[in-house]
Amino acid sequence: MEEDDGLWREQLLPDRLRQDLAQHKRWQEAFRQAHPTKVCTKCGETLPRTSEHYYRDAARGDGLRTICKHCESRAKPGITLPGMRRCGRCHQWKPATWAYFRHRARVEGGWDSYCVECRRSYNHDDYRKRKAIQNHSPLARLIGESAARHPV
Ligand SMILES: [Zn+2]
Ligand SMILES: [Zn+2]
Repeated sequence: MEEDDGLWREQLLPDRLRQDLAQHKRWQEAFRQAHPTKVCTKCGETLPRTSEHYYRDAARGDGLRTICKHCESRAKPGITLPGMRRCGRCHQWKPATWAYFRHRARVEGGWDSYCVECRRSYNHDDYRKRKAIQNHSPLARLIGESAARHPV
């Protein structure tokens, strides 16, 4: 697919607006450098915050869309296999059955976007990450210390 980065439209803008736009783009660039990764709102993958992984969207704070390129291409018709479902993490096609994908009531179609295996390891990683954050946050330390001083 040809990517429309809107550059041809910029050429039509008056000078002042073009300068504003250039300023805007510098902010976006600074933002991308300050926040080098971005979580796709669809598959939940953490990817580099670059136009390689996200299509450009000038209206966004970081100049990129919220859904990764992989998910955008998956959303297009014709790339689905009947009776199969593609895992958003390992990107493998697996049978769309409860044996391979968990039921998730709030997710579109009722299927988990990750296969059972990926969900298991993802939740595990997530749990370890949360644990690590808990153990290092000043609040968690305070709570821990106060619990040690005042045993219940
Ligand atoms: Zn995605
Ligand atoms: Zn998977």
